[in-house]
Amino acid sequence: MGDAGEKASMRRVLGSPPRLLDDRARPVSPVSIAEFVRAGSSEQETGVRTDLGRWLSKIAPRRKSMKRSSTHAASWIGGAAVVLFILTTGGQPWLVRMLGSYAYFFPPVIIAVFLALNWRARSRLYLAHPPSLVAQGFCGQCGYSLLDLLPAEDNCIVCPECGAAWRKERLTWAWWSSPRDVSRPAPPSRPFRFVFYPRESEAPDAAGRLVPAITPSMVQDCAESSQGNDGAHWRSIWAELRPIGRLGRAVTSIVTAATAIVLSVSGALGLWPAMTMASIVLGALVSALGVAFAFALWRGDLYMVREDVVRVLTQHELCPSCAQQLTRVVDDEHVVACSHCGSTWLLPAANKS
Ligand SMILES: [Zn+2]
Ligand SMILES: [Zn+2]
Repeated sequence: MGDAGEKASMRRVLGSPPRLLDDRARPVSPVSIAEFVRAGSSEQETGVRTDLGRWLSKIAPRRKSMKRSSTHAASWIGGAAVVLFILTTGGQPWLVRMLGSYAYFFPPVIIAVFLALNWRARSRLYLAHPPSLVAQGFCGQCGYSLLDLLPAEDNCIVCPECGAAWRKERLTWAWWSSPRDVSRPAPPSRPFRFVFYPRESEAPDAAGRLVPAITPSMVQDCAESSQGNDGAHWRSIWAELRPIGRLGRAVTSIVTAATAIVLSVSGALGLWPAMTMASIVLGALVSALGVAFAFALWRGDLYMVREDVVRVLTQHELCPSCAQQLTRVVDDEHVVACSHCGSTWLLPAANKS
């Protein structure tokens, strides 16, 4: 399988800057999201900055690359608070001996304050994500608007404010272009389903820009809830995803069901002195719950990952972010920018069967 090679070439296409470099390989230090949001000059620009900033600060905690040293410091303080809490409630309440019973209030208060501060300071703590900024026409380092700038000979647009250089192809959805209302599939979630992969997720596109991503569970919900042509399309995509991780799902669900049955039956028979079931009925009920959970595991998306969805959707020439048709351009590298949402994807070679 040329899968690893494909992934490597996807990284090579425009290169998602792994160590925060601009397109002339110079290190950049991005502004904080809060600073980026404040800098708008027109209503349209401010709107785009606000939306992008809101989204980036929402996903920032999941993206370590956007972390700043102050976030690490905050994590250490939070960790220390938890250790303090354990020490205080454990067998050796040294803090209680020192401070009396007031000590019991300290750790929860410290943790609550830490969580509140971390939540409030999120956009200040986290850095704006360079390729995501450039895609919408802002400098990836300082956030300055790149409107009306012409590319240099190497096809890079140079920021007049900080000198960072960004390849022109990265601007796939400039803030000054007419606003687009991007529709993404939003299938109703099935009741009582166990979701192992979140319905909301984000992925770097081929240009390293962070975009909302369609997840395995979203594909499954689309396949099972949409009707007609659209539904048939989703079902064929889901049929390709379904075999991924099937063995792992089978083993996990069999082990889960077997454990539930063995534990509750042996409990009901009194084989576990510490865990005797009140009755056979209770044992049967616990077994049934275990089997139901195992069945949900088997029917779910466990062991499928977002990358699998990206691969299958690009094979179908669909955008892995908004599910719209990608229009292939005559291009050796098969890099296609989605005309609907502006994300960039690498399509498999056209002659591949
Ligand atoms: Zn700049
Ligand atoms: Zn798209």
